[in-house]
Amino acid sequence: MPIATTSPVTGDVLKTFDALTEEQIDGAIGRSVTGFRELRGTTFAQRAAWMRAAADLLDAERDDVGALMTREMGKTLTAAKAEAAKCARACRFYADNAERFLADEPVEASDVDASAAYGRYQPLGPVLAVMPWNFPLWQAMRFAAPALMAGNTGLLKHASNVPQTALYLGDLFRRAGFPAGAFQTLLVGSDAVERILSDPRVRAATLTGSEAAGRSIAAIAGRELKKTVLELGGSDPYIVMPSADIERAAEVATTARCQNNGQSCIAAKRFIVHADVYDAFVEAFVARMAALTVGDPMDDATDVGPLATEQGRDDVAGQVDDAAAKGATIRCGGEAPKQAGWWYPPTVVTGITPAMRMYAEEVFGPVAGVYRVGSVDEAIDLANATTFGLGANAWTADPGERQRFVTELEAGAVFVDGMVTSYPQLPFGGVKDSGYGRELSAAGIREFCNLKTVWIG
Ligand code: NDP
Repeated sequence: MPIATTSPVTGDVLKTFDALTEEQIDGAIGRSVTGFRELRGTTFAQRAAWMRAAADLLDAERDDVGALMTREMGKTLTAAKAEAAKCARACRFYADNAERFLADEPVEASDVDASAAYGRYQPLGPVLAVMPWNFPLWQAMRFAAPALMAGNTGLLKHASNVPQTALYLGDLFRRAGFPAGAFQTLLVGSDAVERILSDPRVRAATLTGSEAAGRSIAAIAGRELKKTVLELGGSDPYIVMPSADIERAAEVATTARCQNNGQSCIAAKRFIVHADVYDAFVEAFVARMAALTVGDPMDDATDVGPLATEQGRDDVAGQVDDAAAKGATIRCGGEAPKQAGWWYPPTVVTGITPAMRMYAEEVFGPVAGVYRVGSVDEAIDLANATTFGLGANAWTADPGERQRFVTELEAGAVFVDGMVTSYPQLPFGGVKDSGYGRELSAAGIREFCNLKTVWIG
């Protein structure tokens, strides 16, 4: 994949970049090591001051960096600006809480025959972050803010279609005051990842992206015995039971499916609806999906912009065409318009069977599959009938059903009467083929730390 900004609105290549040479990559890893030595010697208060400065820059530059993201990958400008604001909040959250999250963990000294004993969190060193284009600022910030506050350094290999947002991030932390080697953007293709991760100076890796990329990075890291955190795809269920507020469930379902033009790992993708409310839900949901405004992502009135890449649009169109050819019903949308750019309309599909690709595959676009079930048992079985396990949404007012969903859904997160979303305060990650490890919260900052046992006799 060439490293380039290509407009998803028109398909025009706007700017291209050369990949770094071997020598330049080597120099960057060297600076990351030097930066680590410097950073781990600083206090939490110093790092927090730089992190707050980064947050202030993000707030001040929200409109510009928002427009940059919109140009590079097609999300609406409104969503892009909100993403920049969320990044600033995450910076402040870790500036405020890192020291507490990484405080020594004492144990009862006499129990272990010591005069003092505790666990101490220490940073690991340079960490490679391989990041995707769908939330080009947020996905990288979820790694960067806790990593830098812990005293690790970051090497960002961003997706090849968001090079300017990638460069902005490297620049941001330097301008905020962090040492030069603390966080660097490496403009490289995915073919350079093996060489970087195999370098003994790089201590760990985090990836957000596809299952294929996750398997590849995990294999390299396994061979090299390096810690990894993987945030991969998802095919989140969205269960609607008879006691739910159907209008509200349909309204939130529309956002949950079409946020970010349908390209979110935690988007609701499989809508599992009890037979008693199936017709009412489908009617309300289709009406809302069909009413969304598709258009120029820079326009405030737009709900859904183009998909980020031609391949992404073709994948989604192929999945819907496959379902239609095998007998599914297209309730709205279902056909890419014949115009420049990578557009796909909000689409609702019913009558999906296990023979159709949509049943098992992640659909990374504004396409909802709706399934009818007859009981809570059937809803849970179908929700879990996936290789993924990222998030799960459930709508019910019944306390017994709520407990069953919380306990029995195989997912990294369960949101009841709402949609799965990420907060700096809550752990974020998956089970099964959605990956492992956690980002955000206290768990996220501890992932790339050595919890050192200290025993003093
Ligand atoms: P990829 O997983 O291909 O891209 C994500 C990042 O991984 C990019 O930086 C990419 O680099 C890099 N990468 C790709 N392949 C490898 C590899 N073998 N080894 C190391 N790094 C690699 O996602 P795509 O953009 O191709 O999207 C495909 C699918 O991935 C989507 O349809 C969706 O299912 C899933 N996805 C999930 C995301 C999530 O948020 N969990 C985000 C994006 C995608 P480069 O750009 O240079 O190829």
